[in-house]
Amino acid sequence: MTIASITSSRPFRLVQPQGVLHCGSVSLEALARTFGTPLYVYSADQILDRLQLFQQAFTDRETLICYAVKANSALAILQFLARHGAGFDIVSGGELERVLTAAPEAASRVVFSGVGKTAAEIDQALGADILEFNVESETELELLADRARKLKRKARVALRVNPDVFAETHPYISTGLREHKFGIDIRRAFRLYKSMLGSRWLEPHGVSVHIGSQIRSADPFGAALERVNKLVRQLDRAGISLGSIDAGGGLGIDYHGGSFDAAAKVREYAQALQSALAGFEGRLLLEPGRFLVAQAGALVARVLYVKRNGSKTFVIADAAMNDLIRPALYQAHHEIVPVRPRSGKARAVDVVGPVCESGDFFARDRGLPPLRPGDLIALLDAGAYGMAQSSNYNTRPRPAEVLIHGRKTRLIRRRETMNDIFAPEILATET
Ligand SMILES: *Cc1c(COP(=O)(O)O)cnc(C)c1O
Repeated sequence: MTIASITSSRPFRLVQPQGVLHCGSVSLEALARTFGTPLYVYSADQILDRLQLFQQAFTDRETLICYAVKANSALAILQFLARHGAGFDIVSGGELERVLTAAPEAASRVVFSGVGKTAAEIDQALGADILEFNVESETELELLADRARKLKRKARVALRVNPDVFAETHPYISTGLREHKFGIDIRRAFRLYKSMLGSRWLEPHGVSVHIGSQIRSADPFGAALERVNKLVRQLDRAGISLGSIDAGGGLGIDYHGGSFDAAAKVREYAQALQSALAGFEGRLLLEPGRFLVAQAGALVARVLYVKRNGSKTFVIADAAMNDLIRPALYQAHHEIVPVRPRSGKARAVDVVGPVCESGDFFARDRGLPPLRPGDLIALLDAGAYGMAQSSNYNTRPRPAEVLIHGRKTRLIRRRETMNDIFAPEILATET
């Protein structure tokens, strides 16, 4: 596959005559020179395009796009999304703090998901007067009622139901089957909504569902929402009218090269949801994460060594699994493009990092143009679950991050230092 066809649906392109990979109009070579490597580079323009695809896909329905913070929780990205009208789906008190720091005005557009909310996190969210709690168990509902009563704050509740729908994706990111830890069995939800009527502090506000991540077909989303809509009708007949349905996130992208029509994908997704929602007049919440940010981001790394072991060639980069764990964790594929491709025959190589684990690889037996020490490479589609899942394993400082908007480059996180890493640690004092 040619580099041009790989980059066709991404903000990263080879710009002639030098033939250097750019993010929009900014050269990745120049960025690496200024900020060093490994470096995360994100296109704000693409993030905005993707957000607007969702915002505009549902013409006859009020919608709120609650970006799933866990996909990429950079404060600057949250701030940027909030300014363009996004709400947020959070899964921890820490993520709530992020939203309140980046965009305090967006607190009223926050939904709180997650199977293990603590009392302290619930208090924090009640204090911030968030839009909705997506409650994942009966015991959580009891705790929420308890905290709301103590704080004298009404909690808007959506039960996160488990629709028992199979979604084809990696088993680690599939969540919509009864055997998974997520949500409340949809068959028990009706009774739980009725139980809320007795509470002064719980307001039945909506219902939510999230069946997994990186789901490529629209069908499972439609199937899940049909079940949800049926529950909403049933509740309606019982006098409990819910104002919103939260369809969760999970819409997948194409990590392999070639053309990917994001607009067509969102249209197909929207159609599946709309037909499943027939008869429901209320507001639709959506929680896309990956779809908004994955393809906007690349991890830029420098080749340190190229070495041969028997018949294999290893390209050793200065980025590693601690910076981007998806290949090691999910056997995920990321396209790799040299920032200034050399001419010459493509060769099958393994692209690996310096971490002391055989799982520390980005690609195996991948056909790539010739690479030499000092060359830059870009790992594409790294904007989601990249930096967010990074660590300091092997005492490696985390990369810097830059956000590109039009011609402007903004450093949104500086490279970590050893001081950052050592700060929480405590040495014995002299005895
Ligand atoms: C992870 C998650 C999302 C986002 O999933 P994507 O695949 O990134 O779109 C949305 N909602 C909930 C509850 C999640 O756990």
